[in-house]
Amino acid sequence: MSLAQQLGTVTGDAAGTVDRHATTGTFDSTDPATGAVVGTFPVHDEDAVRATVARARPAAQAWAALGFDGRRTRLAAYRGHLARRLHELADLVHRENGKPHADAVLEITLAVDHLAWAGSHARTVLRPRRVNPGLLAANHAATLEYQPLGVVGVIGPWNYPVFTPMGSIAYALAAGNAVVFKPSEHTPAVGAWLAAAWRAAVPDVADALQVVTGDGGTGAALCRAGVGKLAFTGSAPTGRRVMAACAETLTPVVMELGGKDAMIVDDDADVAAAADAAVWAGMSNAGQTCIGIERVYVTERVHDAFVAEVEERVRGLRPGSDDGAAYGPMTMPSQADVVRRHVDDAVAAGGRVLTGGTVDDRWVAPTVLLDVPETSAAVREETFGPTLTITRVRNAEEALERTNANAHGLAGAVFSRSRGRAMDLARRMRTGMTSVNSVLTFAAVPALPFGGVGESGFGRIHGADGLREFTRTKAITRQRVALPVDLMSFRRPAAAADVLARAMGLVHGRHR
Ligand code: NDP
Repeated sequence: MSLAQQLGTVTGDAAGTVDRHATTGTFDSTDPATGAVVGTFPVHDEDAVRATVARARPAAQAWAALGFDGRRTRLAAYRGHLARRLHELADLVHRENGKPHADAVLEITLAVDHLAWAGSHARTVLRPRRVNPGLLAANHAATLEYQPLGVVGVIGPWNYPVFTPMGSIAYALAAGNAVVFKPSEHTPAVGAWLAAAWRAAVPDVADALQVVTGDGGTGAALCRAGVGKLAFTGSAPTGRRVMAACAETLTPVVMELGGKDAMIVDDDADVAAAADAAVWAGMSNAGQTCIGIERVYVTERVHDAFVAEVEERVRGLRPGSDDGAAYGPMTMPSQADVVRRHVDDAVAAGGRVLTGGTVDDRWVAPTVLLDVPETSAAVREETFGPTLTITRVRNAEEALERTNANAHGLAGAVFSRSRGRAMDLARRMRTGMTSVNSVLTFAAVPALPFGGVGESGFGRIHGADGLREFTRTKAITRQRVALPVDLMSFRRPAAAADVLARAMGLVHGRHR
């Protein structure tokens, strides 16, 4: 019995997706290490996607009607379900994405933690609140509310098939929305598993989280299906297409796009710690991490020591599918081609290969490049492979300048023992997120928003901003007492304007 049959997802029964007739065929998802079929899934067409969204609408109402407490207990049941089956899901992630089982466990752990935070903080962040009505409306009560959008569409990538979509799904659900999730065609089994787990854990509002499977066409159909918002995580080129499709119906979007994240290593950094972090952030998950470090700028004082530390650590790493492997294969063959192009281009431009540089089918050796010109693709474009460029700079200011010269602006890291200096560099880094003396840590802090600037997108998931992202802000005023003079009436006395102007002069006129 195939995995998909075990999950009951091929026909969509367990995942709550549509029936067989509303599809245009099936596709296989395969293990990138062996080519073995992991599961067979329907290609949901436009009608099928619309039917799924239509089924999600009443579920969204029922889900919203549960209120913060009702949703919190059900989200807790869901995360309990995931936590109890963590190894089962990690095994599926390993087979479909290729990453080591232990890395999959880490990824799911982060997702569970975000589910916990979103569920338990939704009330605090989103509850209706009274705000000061101000001078002109002093006789009114002013209320601010964050209402759910209804059905939210989530389109996710394959590189972190649990953590990444859950950054939208958990927060959208906690804010009171139903979700229709379209996983990448490379990781549909993980997506279907997440939806099947929801049905099992939250049977009374099972349609609040559904999955549709297929390729880019299915994603495009979700953009046009009338969802209240579309949360997209993927590459910038696809993001542009998603925005164009959503523009047709003025569907708002959240764009979590790619990065070209840099690490700055300052004169006073703990060089060994910086090297260790750079190697992990650059090579883990075969470098297929949107917030992975791809460029390192090291001040000349510590450059050579840093390179030596990196070299020592990288020499012990190898890709593979066994327990001893540091990371897996490239999930998509086409990504290996991108890595090859970037390495070849860097070498042709005068860069030196410190380690690796070889791409064997889907297996990329851990690759460290030195002296690569800033104009080459390996420094400018997202490589998404187990590669690092290390560049010598005069000082941290030059490092920051080069970091900020890139069109992407997702995240980055600063290594320095001076707290003030490091925080100053972090603030001035043109990214949505920066970690000081560590890498990727912001992703593990549920209270912190996640998202980028420039080519890395806009909007935020995670944290209070992530909860509000999946709501519409509602402003209400309620007149408490009627005033003898109503300024917004054709019946106001002729002198009212003068009285108002005098009052404004008294209150604001003294400011120069
Ligand atoms: P893609 O942009 O290729 O695809 C992302 C998703 O969009 C997939 O589900 C894909 O489906 C779908 N899709 C493709 N075409 C369309 C379309 N026309 N309309 C709607 N949906 C469509 O990205 P990858 O899956 O290759 O993911 C890697 C990228 O994601 C990298 O650039 C990475 O940096 C970025 N990323 C960003 C993160 C962030 O939070 N900022 C986090 C993780 C990754 P299908 O796969 O079936 O084609």
